[in-house]
Amino acid sequence: MKANNNEADIPWICDKCNEKLKLRKTRIAYLGAEFQVELLKCPKCGMVFIDEELAKGKILEVEKSLEDK
Ligand SMILES: [Zn+2]
Repeated sequence: MKANNNEADIPWICDKCNEKLKLRKTRIAYLGAEFQVELLKCPKCGMVFIDEELAKGKILEVEKSLEDK
């Protein structure tokens, strides 16, 4: 996995397939609950790249919205 200089356009490439990773809604399990977040995924091999900071940010958003209810 390597970062591309043109970050806005093609941020990540799958090392294995040389395919652009795409944002896909992906289910992740966290603290016994399931969340659907947008994560970078290789369309070819299905490898999910989890940007930890991004994932945590999304989860925090979800947790906040859950608490508000
Ligand atoms: Zn791949």
